[in-house]
Amino acid sequence: VALDQVVGHERVREFLARTLAASRVPPALLFSGPSGVGKKTLALALLRALLCDRQDPRGPCDACPTCRRCLKGVHPDLILLEPETASIKIDQVREIVGKIAGLPYEGRARGVVVDSAECLTEEAENALLKSLEEPPKTSHVCLVTSSPQALLQTVRSRCQEVRMGSLPARLIEARLAETLDPDEARLRAALSGGSLGAALGFESEGYRATRDDLLAILEGLGKDGALGRLGAAERLADAEDPFLVLVTLRGLLRDVAVTWAGVSGELLNPDVRERLERLAQTPLGGRAAALAERVAEVREGLEGNANRLLSMDVLLEAFA
Ligand SMILES: [Zn+2]
Repeated sequence: VALDQVVGHERVREFLARTLAASRVPPALLFSGPSGVGKKTLALALLRALLCDRQDPRGPCDACPTCRRCLKGVHPDLILLEPETASIKIDQVREIVGKIAGLPYEGRARGVVVDSAECLTEEAENALLKSLEEPPKTSHVCLVTSSPQALLQTVRSRCQEVRMGSLPARLIEARLAETLDPDEARLRAALSGGSLGAALGFESEGYRATRDDLLAILEGLGKDGALGRLGAAERLADAEDPFLVLVTLRGLLRDVAVTWAGVSGELLNPDVRERLERLAQTPLGGRAAALAERVAEVREGLEGNANRLLSMDVLLEAFA
């Protein structure tokens, strides 16, 4: 049954199953948490369960004619609202407000999911607010967002918040291992930051190119001098995805640290084992674990809008 098919979030799933069993699904829910952890998936599954012909509190059957139409996105009582451009504008919301106020066309209930709800303009939020006040018993609205603080307090207070955290790497790895080879699954899970979406969307080619570049930089440390370091810092700062660079670098350092310590742990990058072993024999070996922590700090700094080039240069300086 589909609520179980969502990876992780046991407590949240149990809570939702209880509300289904008691026919007490709140009229307005706010699914919050990092991107790619299953918020929208779970919100849609909950609403399908309300519409499903089998009415099983464990979740939608995903096999009955109603579920199948919901899954195809053609059931008139299951409505998904997403930003068409950078924002969700009032015109889009007005249409939805009318639907929330109405009775189901044919189903037992009517469900609306507003994905990326942080993109609602203030005007749109205010329009939505009214329909969150006293919707018909058959209407259920799920707002989905990774930035709940961006919503108006008045809107948040009308919703019951369902907080979903990041997923443990082992759950992501297990899910990926169903379709990918074990090394790839482990690597993606480790780099995903707890987001199944990120793990699934991970592009191995970009990763390997970034990794090659980083390995070359690590291998040149101490040889290339300060100018070489600045050049390397520039390359890293100009990278299309600086977070990928830092996550990749951290993974490499972790592997070097593991190799240096002689721990027989599994490497994230087993295909470059020999290069990692050579690096572990340089002065980098003993410092790799501490440097990996520095990388994590720089990543946090960049999330807080620190200067990229300066951050990368300071980081590489720590390596010298
Ligand atoms: Zn069904």
